[in-house]
Amino acid sequence: MNEIKTCQYCGSTKIKVGYQIGDGEMSSDFMGNKTCRISHLICGDCGAILMSRVDNPEIFDDDNRI
Ligand SMILES: [Zn+2]
Repeated sequence: MNEIKTCQYCGSTKIKVGYQIGDGEMSSDFMGNKTCRISHLICGDCGAILMSRVDNPEIFDDDNRI
């Protein structure tokens, strides 16, 4: 995965990481049995969310492909 080093909107290089907290987790099923945190890369200048990712992509197994 290419590392994001600059904001595509304002050109800033102040890239920060933020974490989704509370109930804002991603689940691999409707029941919420398997969840993982979501983290975001954000621009420290304009606040744009540049990329969002789940911390444990391995919980999304082959059974839940669309
Ligand atoms: Zn920016």
